[in-house]
Amino acid sequence: MAKIAIVGGGVSGLSAGIYAQLSGHTATICERHNVAGGNLTGWQRGEYHIDNCIHWLTGTNPASDGYRMWETLGALGDVDVYQPPTLYTCEENGASISLNADLEQTKNDMIKISPDDKKEILSLVKAVEMVQGMSGIAGKSHNERYSKAKIAISVPSLIKYYDLSAKDLAQRFKSPLLRQFICSFLSDEFSSLALIAIWAHFCGENGGLPKGGSLAMANRMTDRFRSLGGELLLKTEVIGIEREKNKALAINLSNGDRISADYIILTADPAVMFDRLLDIPMPKQLKKLYNDPQLHRFSSYQCAFSCDTAELGFSGDLMIEIPPKYRSLLHNEAFALREFSHEKSFAPENKQILQALCFCDENTSRDFINMRNDKSAYNAEKQELAATLKSLIEAKLPHLKDKLACIDVWTPATYQRYVDSQIGSFMSFALPKGRLPIRQSNRIKGLDNVILATQWQQMPGGLPIAADGGKKAIETVNELEFERYQAKERTEKTKRRSLQAHT
Ligand SMILES: Cc1cc2nc3c(=O)[nH]c(=O)nc-3n(C[C@H](O)[C@H](O)[C@H](O)COP(=O)(O)OP(=O)(O)OC[C@H]3O[C@@H](n4cnc5c(N)ncnc54)[C@H](O)[C@@H]3O)c2cc1C
Repeated sequence: MAKIAIVGGGVSGLSAGIYAQLSGHTATICERHNVAGGNLTGWQRGEYHIDNCIHWLTGTNPASDGYRMWETLGALGDVDVYQPPTLYTCEENGASISLNADLEQTKNDMIKISPDDKKEILSLVKAVEMVQGMSGIAGKSHNERYSKAKIAISVPSLIKYYDLSAKDLAQRFKSPLLRQFICSFLSDEFSSLALIAIWAHFCGENGGLPKGGSLAMANRMTDRFRSLGGELLLKTEVIGIEREKNKALAINLSNGDRISADYIILTADPAVMFDRLLDIPMPKQLKKLYNDPQLHRFSSYQCAFSCDTAELGFSGDLMIEIPPKYRSLLHNEAFALREFSHEKSFAPENKQILQALCFCDENTSRDFINMRNDKSAYNAEKQELAATLKSLIEAKLPHLKDKLACIDVWTPATYQRYVDSQIGSFMSFALPKGRLPIRQSNRIKGLDNVILATQWQQMPGGLPIAADGGKKAIETVNELEFERYQAKERTEKTKRRSLQAHT
């Protein structure tokens, strides 16, 4: 059985480590921080807990393929999953529309708001229902055989959306509120198919929130890895990979140590790892993605507010439009305000924590990263963002006036520093219109025993893609080990034959 060294203890790395141990290998994960989880994390600010990651976790429906993977990884299983009644809400001129867990209700609410858009609404809902039945994207009546048949019949209903971005799709609606409802949840460049997939998961009870939030899930995966005998080295940065011709021999650590391994699995952003750890170029197909002008990476800045009342007046994510005069300051046209009333331990009794999230494009992300070189300018920018967001929240929800206090602000520069992704992006490329999320190979030409397990190999990234990347890396190790075993058997057989021939 093989000795495997894993660079990075995020979800990809923990998944690779767990599947490695389950396959009988011995895995060591090196993680530069003092806690594993990567982007799947959270932190305390006084009495408040900030949850960095999970807005929806696909694979929470026990009937889905994804659930089995999360169960194996210790992420789900005995854990309560909260199924929010709504994922997000948009409001305009006193009217509002939510993505309700009950798709039928969402459909009826949309038609009520804009009967003139009925044809588009029915077409969209049909596409969502089609996707729900596909394998791995379980609806309430998930069934493997039925799912495969559905893939074939769903194609015509989905083709129209393949060529539409969420923004293009929004423009087909007459109602301004429905337009906002369609295009505000994802950043502009996303394919409308990505939106359809989110609706399908959420309304198929397959996009819930595991109890305890992101950090608790990361901790459960960490415990699972350790309980299987895996070794997790925290505060351990990998600074190089030693190789001889097409074989990697060991990883070098910032503390001067060296860990030899039969296989090395890389889980962080390839744009950084190939520059820093390896002296060979990134695989061509992967490089193409980074150089493709159609593909965009994105990040966000966020601001957390303590809230002096438990009476919020909304649930899930409330999408708040940014008035034009603030758009250049806030770098976007809308932001999402998120509440956590389902997590009683995240805030003191009768209080709440609210998080405002605003997506940033690549240029804005780079600006934040550069700005951080000047700490006082960076801190002043963060203060201004927080003050402006607070005033916009109070304008939208006047009953919260004087009840909000900013407790933290973090930006693409924070993500860049924390997980060492090139421009602070925490998922991979946004899936654009006209493209399918095909997974890139995990092999590196010219380096036989280094395997990639990164979310960057499949748009748009996210937790299930990260976890699946770790699983697939170990499947590759198992295949290579089997090939090695077969080659050894062949050699020994030949030796035996030649010995017999001589005796
Ligand atoms: C605000 C936000 C909201 C999100 N919402 C969702 C959501 O609702 N649903 C969803 O599915 N996904 C969501 N995601 C995305 C999800 O968090 C990521 O897709 C996933 O965590 C990626 O995991 P990873 O292990 O591939 O990479 P990372 O999380 O980037 O982990 C890489 C790890 O490698 C470590 N590392 C890097 N270089 C080295 C080195 N040289 N030596 C040692 N260690 C190293 C880093 O410290 C890090 O821990 C969200 C992310 C954020 C930030």
